[in-house]
Amino acid sequence: MRFSKTFIKTYKESPKEAEVTSHKLMLRAGMIKQVSRGNYTYLPLGLRVLQKIEKIVREEMEKSGAIELLMPIMQPADLWMESGRWSAYGPELMRFKDRNQRDFVLGPTHEEIVTYLFRELVKSYKELPVNFYQIQTKFRDEIRPRFGLMRGREFIMKDGYSFHLTKESLDKEYLNMKKTYCNIFTRCGLNFRPVEADTGSIGGAESHEFMVLAKAGEDDILYSDTADYAANVEKATSKIDLIMPKEEEKQKTLVETVAKTSIDSLVTYLNIPKQKIVKSILFKEICEDDIKYYLALIRGDLDINEIKVKNAFNLNTELELVTDEEIEKLGLVKGYIGALEGINENIQIVMDESVKYLFNFVTGANKENYHYINVNIKDLKYDIIADIRLAKAGDLSPKGDGVLKIARGIEVGHIFKLGDKYSKKMNAKVLDENGKLQTVIMGCYGIGVSRVAAATVEQNNDENGIIWPRSIAPYEIDLIATNMKNEKIVEISEKIYEKLKVNKFDVIYDDRNEKPGFKFKDADLIGFPIKIIVGNKAEEGFVEIKYRKNSESKLIKIEDVLEYCKEK
Ligand code: ATP
Ligand code: MG
Repeated sequence: MRFSKTFIKTYKESPKEAEVTSHKLMLRAGMIKQVSRGNYTYLPLGLRVLQKIEKIVREEMEKSGAIELLMPIMQPADLWMESGRWSAYGPELMRFKDRNQRDFVLGPTHEEIVTYLFRELVKSYKELPVNFYQIQTKFRDEIRPRFGLMRGREFIMKDGYSFHLTKESLDKEYLNMKKTYCNIFTRCGLNFRPVEADTGSIGGAESHEFMVLAKAGEDDILYSDTADYAANVEKATSKIDLIMPKEEEKQKTLVETVAKTSIDSLVTYLNIPKQKIVKSILFKEICEDDIKYYLALIRGDLDINEIKVKNAFNLNTELELVTDEEIEKLGLVKGYIGALEGINENIQIVMDESVKYLFNFVTGANKENYHYINVNIKDLKYDIIADIRLAKAGDLSPKGDGVLKIARGIEVGHIFKLGDKYSKKMNAKVLDENGKLQTVIMGCYGIGVSRVAAATVEQNNDENGIIWPRSIAPYEIDLIATNMKNEKIVEISEKIYEKLKVNKFDVIYDDRNEKPGFKFKDADLIGFPIKIIVGNKAEEGFVEIKYRKNSESKLIKIEDVLEYCKEK
């Protein structure tokens, strides 16, 4: 491609609206142009990057045995009602009506459509397992679209869905996809980590997110400094000493604790360690027609992970903290809550495992300015026991092999064992070996194709611009004629251009009538991996080759250009 014949507009200044590096650089390098919030045109250079990522995704998915198809973006609401997500998905789902007032959505993901497809077309176990995938534009009305391609309202995703009769078959495909994803992200040149992820309320399911380690990431990852363990903070666990020395249980006693509403103030006032106090935190879930309340109990030196509380009760909606008025309405007192006999029956209570091993501890007395001391498990009221602890940097990793560290990550991929979540509700069954109808189980596998482009820039840049890994660079080689008025330079440049093209090199030829410095600046900003610079030495048979990655440069013979441009 000739620079003068394509459409590339670069900018010196960072646009005001851009906060993170990748957004700034992709705008400045003329890769994308915003149309509305989270809604972009992919300009020619940006499009080439996406197409290269898509090519890698297709090649690896093909190798894995998955089958490509293309499902509609427009999806009838009926299917979303069948799955229950018409109401559960919330305002992120872009809904619209057709001319007959029938409800539709713009697909944010395709579990409903693919399950419908499967139940209509697949009838026998003999056709299993099968994994369908597509690469397509997705729509999500994100509450906070930002960071350019990182979090769009319209973005490109590779989504895949596998169907199985047995858990073993799903496990095998899940591992196959995990390996495929590692291959894809490695080929894209990313520094990433698969991390254990929260599976929401689907009990026992497995899920991994593929995280690109970068400051601009929106997720926190905890990973072991010496072992393999890595997990999203939402899901992470750590090793702590749960077992406490056994004590003889004493009689619970009311004590006055005026204005001692914090753990620290109780520690000083009662002269006890934090571990001897049980914290009680109240949450609420706003449902369609009412509000439900949940109380979480944990040892005083530990913190609660809200997501784990939500999962412990199998909830679909996020939990929120309660207001002071609500606490009062429930007959409780802020700072003095305790899960004791007589507590409001409508509150469901989860106790962290850490509380189970305590003796003679302190808890709120549900009375202003009073706590109970010498409380024991038998005195507590609770519905379930679960791990609701927040793991933190500095904790021991779950197996004790290493210390947890924290890093920021950008989620570029997500794989998930769905089990029968959709197939059961939507009646996706096949005949098994004995001619009996059986509900299938599913896995789903997503890659944020457009987010991969942004994440790559986030990880590969310097003060001059983007440093594309060769595999997904918009062009691999930028051939720069330093002076278009010099006939000899032009003639030699044209020859090298032809030779590179004939030999199938991915080259852009900067044939613009501009100063060399201007061309170099653009080349560095856009981030072409290799520059071939045709200057005054060309007549003597030499050109300069310069690598974006390490700024290394060499004078080489013109006849050696192909050799130097080859991938090593
Ligand atoms: P996030 O937590 O970042 O919102 P998600 O869990 O909602 O992601 P999935 O539903 O698992 O994402 O979608 C699969 C992949 O699609 C994600 O791993 C991510 O790479 C990409 N993705 C999701 N939402 C967006 C978005 N708004 N813009 C760009 N890419 C996205
Ligand atoms: Mg999301």
